[in-house]
Amino acid sequence: MQTETVTCSACGAPLSIPDNVEYVGCRFCQTQLHVQRNQSVVFTEVLQSLHRQTERLADNTEIIRLQQNIEFLDKEWKDESAEFTTTDSQGRTVFPDKDLVAIEGKMMVAAAVIGTVAVFFFYPLLSFVGLVCIVAVVGNNKLRQEKLARFEGKQAAYQQKRNDLLDQLRQIEPRN
Ligand SMILES: [Zn+2]
Repeated sequence: MQTETVTCSACGAPLSIPDNVEYVGCRFCQTQLHVQRNQSVVFTEVLQSLHRQTERLADNTEIIRLQQNIEFLDKEWKDESAEFTTTDSQGRTVFPDKDLVAIEGKMMVAAAVIGTVAVFFFYPLLSFVGLVCIVAVVGNNKLRQEKLARFEGKQAAYQQKRNDLLDQLRQIEPRN
């Protein structure tokens, strides 16, 4: 069996090792070493840091994967929320406002009721038209509320997923 001499990269001690081993523990400082053979040069590398490098590489891959997932989730949400959003005069996306939907609903019902009462005083025979209006407004209101509830459910799910991904990112980053 051929032996070769390498230097421990942790403490500098000369180590005589068989020329086919890849991993060796230093007899003097007990550091785990990885023997590297590059054509003419043989040297050792402290295994611990090698592990750390590999870990860091894996972490970077994981970070990129998580960032891509967040980006994808945002795009998906942009498409999905388009059904519920409107665009203002400056081209900004406006999300449905719960309070606004409620106020508008109440105002429309109030307007229909007032209109119906007015019609009843002047043309009592036509007041059924007002009643039809009230029913229509109340029904429309209900649909808007249901749509709002659907939007809020989807938004909550999106935010939950996004926060989970951000948490995963935060758990990795301090190790770097
Ligand atoms: Zn050593």
